Amino acid sequence: MKRRKILIIGAGLGGLTFGALAARDGHEVVLYDRNHEPGGVVALTREGGFSFEQGPLILSDLLPSESICSFLQELGICLETVRDDRGLSTRDFDLIRPKEYAGPNWRKEKLKELFPEEAGGIDAYYRFYDALMEIRYQSSRRDSPMKRILMGLAFLKVRKYQDMTCEEFTDLLFHGNAKLKLVFNGILADFCADPAEVQCFTLPFVNTETAFDKRIPLDHKGRERYYGGFAYFKDGCQKLPEALLGSIAAHDGIFVPDTIVENVLVEGGRARGIRLADGTEVDGDVVVGCGSARDFFEKMVGLEHLDEGYRRILRECRPMEAVFMVHLGVDYDPRRYQEQSLVYYYRGYDLHGAVDRLRNGIYHEGADGYLIYFPDAHAPGFAPEGYHCVTIYTVCPDTLRAGDWETMKDGYADQLIALAEEHLPGLSKHIVAKKIMTALDYRKMTHMSKSSFGGLVPIWGQKNPPHVTPVRDLYFVGQQSENGGGVPIVINGAREAYRKFQSMHRSS
Ligand SMILES: Cc1cc2nc3c(=O)[nH]c(=O)nc-3n(C[C@H](O)[C@H](O)[C@H](O)COP(=O)(O)OP(=O)(O)OC[C@H]3O[C@@H](n4cnc5c(N)ncnc54)[C@H](O)[C@@H]3O)c2cc1C
Repeated sequence: MKRRKILIIGAGLGGLTFGALAARDGHEVVLYDRNHEPGGVVALTREGGFSFEQGPLILSDLLPSESICSFLQELGICLETVRDDRGLSTRDFDLIRPKEYAGPNWRKEKLKELFPEEAGGIDAYYRFYDALMEIRYQSSRRDSPMKRILMGLAFLKVRKYQDMTCEEFTDLLFHGNAKLKLVFNGILADFCADPAEVQCFTLPFVNTETAFDKRIPLDHKGRERYYGGFAYFKDGCQKLPEALLGSIAAHDGIFVPDTIVENVLVEGGRARGIRLADGTEVDGDVVVGCGSARDFFEKMVGLEHLDEGYRRILRECRPMEAVFMVHLGVDYDPRRYQEQSLVYYYRGYDLHGAVDRLRNGIYHEGADGYLIYFPDAHAPGFAPEGYHCVTIYTVCPDTLRAGDWETMKDGYADQLIALAEEHLPGLSKHIVAKKIMTALDYRKMTHMSKSSFGGLVPIWGQKNPPHVTPVRDLYFVGQQSENGGGVPIVINGAREAYRKFQSMHRSS
């Protein structure tokens, strides 16, 4: 294939992945970002000698021989990961991994103890889970008649549920028991999705049992890597954008930081370059964009260059809302009170109401739930010797119906700290550094007019904007594109976009 000049707008994980592949294959890559450092939303925030990452970026597909790890190795990138898990605590019961490993089924047994009247439904859920894990495993294998038979057999076990939403499925199995429904549907509200909008086959993948106990073996019945594991990058997730950028630079790609790209230049139905905020025009053969789908196509490309099908996808897609995050540097070790580095504290059972409030600009002030996360557990360098990091965060509307983030943030941070103190006694007396992150900060970090922490809401049947756009030589990657959000998904999406670019240009 002819060497092409590829202009990439945004050094988030989507842009970096596309750039690393293109640079490796000998294309001329120029990557622009409004920020000084690469990474977009996974870049570090620093305050008073502490470093914090935006998220608990506990990731799938990253352990040795899992898909993202293997892909990074192909690029010559080897990053150490730490397998980990998360706890779940509700107002009435906890699902925190037991001190002594109690086997892969401890959550099922604990739920049956807590809800003996729903034991049949719990067993049915885990049969459904097992069948979908089998389908997942088989689909990752090379095609063969045996694979197709095993997948078909597994599918027969879940076929009767295929037209159900998560709400309908959990109502059917658990007779409307709101506490049990929360265990499996709660995570959807984090994605701003109402359980009535999401297809029920999603549930096992957002509630994989290995995410709740890092000791569960990933091999199963002699099959290697049957289950996926969850991991943090040792020393922080920003190691990944740094490494991808290193790979781009090693192939003579260029990173242009602190630079806003204002427009994509389209001529004769083809992207011919970009215009920077200072008016400079840069010619290129291919342009790759990311970020907010609506901002990108409405403000930077121009809707007049799209066809009606693509415009409809843009009109219908719904970005998730924002997060409100309080990062603290503390002079005591909070892990004596919360052993797991990440625990979700769900505080309400009305998921429909929670999602509705979020979408209507009403912040729950911690009443619907929050997470407590210790980033320095896997990145000890984030805190000075003898100190630790605590991040408390929750989902929130991007725009408040009453008040604004700048004036409300201190009071809201105090509320979250008070709630966290119920789990981490003495917390408020040990704070030596504090950094509050609101939707306004995330808008800046990601260059979006509406911050959306994980991409588009995964609404059943709703299409996301495809990588291949109606404008020739213009590709769209990142968390609001075709594949969706989350670190591994964004990386896989950009790989897919790059494959499409290759196949469209193969003959030239
Ligand atoms: C709090 C939080 C927790 C999370 N937790 C997890 C988790 O546990 N697991 C997981 O898998 N994922 C998690 N995610 C999601 C994941 O981090 C994102 O989906 C992913 O990093 C998004 O990558 P991206 O490339 O799409 O975009 P971004 O990270 O948004 O990067 C886009 C980049 O493009 C730049 N840019 C855009 N437009 C322009 C322009 N016109 N000019 C110049 N620069 C521009 C922006 O400055 C930015 O740097 C979390 C996210 C958040 C915020």
